[in-house]
Amino acid sequence: MDRFDAIVIGGGITGCGVARDLALRGVGVLLLEQHDLAHGATGRCHGLLHSGVRYAVKDPIAAQECISENRIVRRIAPHCVELTGGLVIELPGDDPAYYHQLRRGCDEAGIEHRALSPADALELEPNLNPRLTRALSVPDASVDPFLLSQENARAAERHGAIIRTHSAVIDFIRDGAAVTGVRFADDEGEHEARAPVTVLAAGGWGMPLAAKAGVRVGLSLSKGSLVIMNRRFCDRVINRCRLPADADLVIPNGPTSIIGTTSITVASPDGLVIEPRELAVLLAEGAALAPGFATARALRSYAGVRPLFQESGDADGRGITRGFFVLNHATRDGVPGLVSIVGGKLTTYRLMAEKTADQVCELLGRRVAGRTSDTPLREGEPAPFYHRYERLARLATTKPGEMVCECEMVPREAIRAILSELHGRPDLADVQHRTRLGMGPCQGGLCSYRGLALLHDEGLLAGGSPAAVITRFLDQRFGGIAPVLWGDQLREEALNYAFYATLFGLDRGGDA
Ligand SMILES: Cc1cc2nc3c(=O)[nH]c(=O)nc-3n(C[C@H](O)[C@H](O)[C@H](O)COP(=O)(O)OP(=O)(O)OC[C@H]3O[C@@H](n4cnc5c(N)ncnc54)[C@H](O)[C@@H]3O)c2cc1C
Repeated sequence: MDRFDAIVIGGGITGCGVARDLALRGVGVLLLEQHDLAHGATGRCHGLLHSGVRYAVKDPIAAQECISENRIVRRIAPHCVELTGGLVIELPGDDPAYYHQLRRGCDEAGIEHRALSPADALELEPNLNPRLTRALSVPDASVDPFLLSQENARAAERHGAIIRTHSAVIDFIRDGAAVTGVRFADDEGEHEARAPVTVLAAGGWGMPLAAKAGVRVGLSLSKGSLVIMNRRFCDRVINRCRLPADADLVIPNGPTSIIGTTSITVASPDGLVIEPRELAVLLAEGAALAPGFATARALRSYAGVRPLFQESGDADGRGITRGFFVLNHATRDGVPGLVSIVGGKLTTYRLMAEKTADQVCELLGRRVAGRTSDTPLREGEPAPFYHRYERLARLATTKPGEMVCECEMVPREAIRAILSELHGRPDLADVQHRTRLGMGPCQGGLCSYRGLALLHDEGLLAGGSPAAVITRFLDQRFGGIAPVLWGDQLREEALNYAFYATLFGLDRGGDA
């Protein structure tokens, strides 16, 4: 089938959210993602379900959107969210006036906040800097961006959408000025798909794609780098009490903590390099928030780009609104059939998707209201076995030998549950995105080969090269480990090298 009501380009959280919203309204959708779901900014963010406190002083509309969507996402996707709560802490040297501005901004945006004494904050979070001078508790939470994207895509599929990963849009099909479809490429070759409306939800890749349709979408690409540490320092999200700046957020993420971020304008979302000066700032500021950072092990670093909408002007990344914009290119540029969704946050993805779907339905002449704000992502189905926050409870019943990844507690059953989503492609990174295999402290050292063995047992390696499959995965993992190779992490990586390069013979191109 190559005809649809709407085509969505991009399988980040925005595209997955748009596909689900449209599918729930009965619109026939095709979603095309060039790599795997959450390949872009979505899979490279902090995983913070913002309370909005971060924007309460400088970006009040974004703050209001965040708190309202924070409440909705908790309700419709409880299995993707860990209800950590958050603290804002003031340290010596932070501007004391900001604390009061922040409380006023929270009141205006409707963000619940409660003042805590330093002693109370330290009782809740003993690893915080004991010199903190003031603290506020806010309703931040930790969210799994991979699971949230996949669950939106799965819900869209249940309502008839077709989701195709590893399918890159290479051009638009035009009828005069109008966009009437796309040409895309996958492992098998090139294909065409047609629809009266195409939605560009390609994040940082949007500009060159829009140019292919003859329209200009002004984006400022702001790179943010983050580091994952091997310990969970705090059970709550920790924000520094100051205007958003480098390295002022620590997010608990399973057994690890993520510190972020930096903000550097870049030309492209591909080939991002994490600079040593970024690492130095992240680790130093992390140690200011939680002194244990100084002695913990940095597991990996990663970077993503915020695709911030900027029609004109030269504000830098932190000065541009985190609000979002739906662009109808028919009225804006004289190109019917194309709609872009730009800017925004992971936290506000549902609202972004709803406004985009409203626009698509208007163009299709369908009067159907969106219902994503009160429809749970799983719609009455039990939460999947492989969802992360349930695993601890299931640990006791997992049989010996069944655990493939001990760091993230991924049993064989969790991997088997998602094998059909690989569509016969033996890709360990796709397994990782769906189960968290290899995302914990050992970074795949002890579980990559077990994952490969499972793919073999399930017949996914027939006719292919196991060595190529595992080498591709290890290379991808190493890309994030390389920037933090010192001390204990270097020793651990030397051990992994011994396993894979020498024991499995991968340094000689041998077959695993
Ligand atoms: C460092 C950093 C930290 C952040 N932290 C947070 C946070 O903690 N909380 C929060 O709410 N927000 C956060 N954000 C913002 C948030 O990550 C983004 O707003 C959101 O993920 C954007 O999602 P998206 O789907 O629009 O874009 P993306 O996730 O970038 O998705 C675009 C997708 O389009 C695909 N694509 C591109 N070209 C093509 C093509 N030709 N064919 C097919 N597919 C294509 C890409 O592969 C990609 O998967 C952060 C952003 C960054 C950079």
